[in-house]
Amino acid sequence: MSVQPVNNIHVLEHPLVSHKLTILRAAETPPHHFRQTLHELSWLLAFPALQRLQVMQVEIETPLEKMVSEKMCDPKPCLVSILRAGNGLIDGFSQICPEASVGHLGLYRDHETTKPISYYSSLPDKMNKRQVVLGDPMLATGGSAVMAIEKLREMGVADIVFACIVAAPEGITLFREKYPDIPIVTASVDRELNEKSYILPGLGDAGDRMYGTVRS
Ligand code: URA
Repeated sequence: MSVQPVNNIHVLEHPLVSHKLTILRAAETPPHHFRQTLHELSWLLAFPALQRLQVMQVEIETPLEKMVSEKMCDPKPCLVSILRAGNGLIDGFSQICPEASVGHLGLYRDHETTKPISYYSSLPDKMNKRQVVLGDPMLATGGSAVMAIEKLREMGVADIVFACIVAAPEGITLFREKYPDIPIVTASVDRELNEKSYILPGLGDAGDRMYGTVRS
């Protein structure tokens, strides 16, 4: 698995990642297969996303002898989903890191203005002491990610990693202007946004693809 951090953007390059991305991108992939594949891809993405997980040394006994080993620090990290598509990514992360708390932020894009609106927030206590992995499969305009990070920063969260499946150059540019130091972990950087702020070639509306809510 190769992750090359350039400009603090970690693009996960691996044949298995490419294969799963192809399944997600293909328009004929049905929702149940899309959801399952998104989970599988998020298991792989969890490794770079949790690369800087804080651990402490503890003394344990194996069946054979004592040793010093490492375990996750308290309070445990918080995996934050930007609803609703973020759930597909964060569910996968929480399967790999079940000790973590899971938070949800509800934001939606006003289709007229393309600006993000906040409608729901559920987060655990001690957020200012937790490491946070914030997840949304699509970094498109960057508006939702920036708004979610603003909320987390207001709560005193210092250590944030943003994880997505597909990032657009426009979203990366906005994100980088606002938050030069927050790592972005992604499976792909795509070409551009279209006039409706969908990523090209992208995979369509991730929430609709996951839940089969495409309207004709
Ligand atoms: N959100 C999505 O789900 N897909 C896009 O292409 C852009 C934003």
